[in-house]
Amino acid sequence: MKFGGTSVADMEKIANVARHVKREVEAGHQVAVIVSAMAGHTNQLVAWTNEAARDPDRGEYDAVVSAGEQITSGLLALTLQGMGVAARSWLGWQIPLSTNEMHGSARIIDIDGSMLGTRLDSGEVAVIAGFQGIGADGRITTLGRGGSDTSAVAIAAAVKADLCDIYTDVDGVYTTDPRIVSKVRRLSRISYEEMLEMASLGAKVLQTRSVRMAMVNGVRLRVRSSFIRPEDAEPVDINNLQDQGTLVCDEEDIMEQHIVSGIAYEKDEAKVTLVKVRDKPGVSARIFGLLADANITVDVIVQNVSEDGRNTDVTFTVPEADLRRTLDVLERQRDEIGYGELVSSSDMVKISVVGAGMRTHAGVAAQMFSALAENNINIQAITTSEIKISVLIDANFTELALRTLHTSYGLDQT
Ligand code: ASP
Ligand code: MG
Repeated sequence: MKFGGTSVADMEKIANVARHVKREVEAGHQVAVIVSAMAGHTNQLVAWTNEAARDPDRGEYDAVVSAGEQITSGLLALTLQGMGVAARSWLGWQIPLSTNEMHGSARIIDIDGSMLGTRLDSGEVAVIAGFQGIGADGRITTLGRGGSDTSAVAIAAAVKADLCDIYTDVDGVYTTDPRIVSKVRRLSRISYEEMLEMASLGAKVLQTRSVRMAMVNGVRLRVRSSFIRPEDAEPVDINNLQDQGTLVCDEEDIMEQHIVSGIAYEKDEAKVTLVKVRDKPGVSARIFGLLADANITVDVIVQNVSEDGRNTDVTFTVPEADLRRTLDVLERQRDEIGYGELVSSSDMVKISVVGAGMRTHAGVAAQMFSALAENNINIQAITTSEIKISVLIDANFTELALRTLHTSYGLDQT
């Protein structure tokens, strides 16, 4: 069981979490609980490191920002004990959860699940501080923002858990953002691949890395609400996981497959076009090499077919926050790259339809384009993967596009 920051935001919510845990323990399950820091606390800790130093040493950054999870794990263990449930808190180094030494965004190398296993067998609940581990240098590391999802999946894999339930402030994964489209539906199941696309496209229910890790290790993952009364939920029945939340699982385990499962969007994209770039080997390598050196992440890339065999246009997107820096780099290197004009526009949104059914169905893209065309929405760039089609449009049309596509692909709740 994993509980995020909003689920452990104060003592009352921690007591609520403890009752969810108690319910499962009383049903005879062995439980490891992974907790985040109280909502907002990690942000506060990060802000303090920036006050203490201009470019904080990454090791000390980790020493500070990992602290929020230490507090919630101890508090939850205490609360459980007070309810008569045997419980003990565990920090990353105590397990140990070993990572590399990339402080601030460490990767998990290995988890020794033996001690946890012994404790679980003895009937003790393990309350584990998410987000943190120990590097080969013996110092505390953190797994990157949102990393307690990844902690939870990794622990689930290490102790060979039957299920990893991610309790959060939404009751599952929806067909699109409920704040924008009212007729959304909760998906009872979604495949790892689809979830991965949704997560990386801004449907921020799970950290992307946690989904990839679940997929690789075959961890059954479920997203469910922590805000229902613990007494109102049935304890987990491993043979029937359908009735609550959204199960993230193998594609083969999904009976009723929609062609499109969900629609995601990514705001704050900016589009950059280099007009009249020389059409010869090495030019793209140079452009994107320069941007990579400046640590700018490029998303959609489109290169036109050159008309005269000599010049072409290259268009790509970057996060809006990086637009200024992108233009600076390209302007400064104008002679080295060689281009006619540099054009950019901000306030773009990337809308993506995601569905494993696309592999076997024709016409999914055409349907998207005509739905947008009927609403006079101009498409500025298109990219696809095997199970996803993304278009770049003017951000003013976000709502209209999401609603239209949601209806068009038959996702509206009836
Ligand atoms: N507390 C950490 C963060 O805010 C980790 C997490 O909540 O997943 O990023
Ligand atoms: Mg989170």
